[in-house]
Amino acid sequence: MSALLTQLSKLRVRLGLDEKRCVHCLSPFSPNTLTYAPPVVTRLLCEECLEDLAPYAGCFCASCGRPVTPNSLGSDGRPQCQPCREDPPPWNAASFYGIYKDALKDLILRLKFNGELAITRLFADFLFHVCQNLPRPDLTLPIPQYPAQTRARGYNQAHEIAGTFAKKCRLSYDANILIRVKPGDPQEKLNAVRRRQNLKEAFHCERSLSGQSVWLIDDVLTTGSTCREATYALRAADAAEVRVIFIGRADS
Ligand SMILES: [Zn+2]
Ligand SMILES: [Zn+2]
Repeated sequence: MSALLTQLSKLRVRLGLDEKRCVHCLSPFSPNTLTYAPPVVTRLLCEECLEDLAPYAGCFCASCGRPVTPNSLGSDGRPQCQPCREDPPPWNAASFYGIYKDALKDLILRLKFNGELAITRLFADFLFHVCQNLPRPDLTLPIPQYPAQTRARGYNQAHEIAGTFAKKCRLSYDANILIRVKPGDPQEKLNAVRRRQNLKEAFHCERSLSGQSVWLIDDVLTTGSTCREATYALRAADAAEVRVIFIGRADS
């Protein structure tokens, strides 16, 4: 029986029946013929793109994900960057997949601005890889957008990523608990200090999260000011523990 299945699977490959399109380069490829050596984190990328989009494997700040040298340590002995030592973020831990540049940046921008929602399945695979050994949270939430912005774009990329990921991992998920109550100016144009002022009290929690552990999901972490303000709102609602999880960490 297994010999027959092997023959059938070879035939499928020869006829191109198991061919898929790579989510990044859009070239056809067969997931069953990969010779890629490291653990395959997704079946949605061709071999070349798997290599280009491998997870970040270097040393990083446990508080914010910024790449650091192994001897840059915080008071608890974990790697920590200088800015986090001076001004620790309000969340408990941070996890991310890769550095926000090259192929990963291209995918994040395509999802955010081109409406290529198929990329959310790839990012859900990335987050699964990042979180597979972590204790499960009580609740998973996306960083919300201001409603007018969601209406203008048609979707919130953080919600698309977090929702697909939560479904894949059967996590408790609710995009309506944490809401954004202030629009603010576009963050990209502001420096770090202005970003924080711009975001002050921009988020509100609709119900108590007393004693709950929360995963807060976004696409990119740059200065961290958005996640900071969102975490303050979760803390104000009595969340016991907050882990911020994002796809790309800006390399700065
Ligand atoms: Zn590819
Ligand atoms: Zn840091």
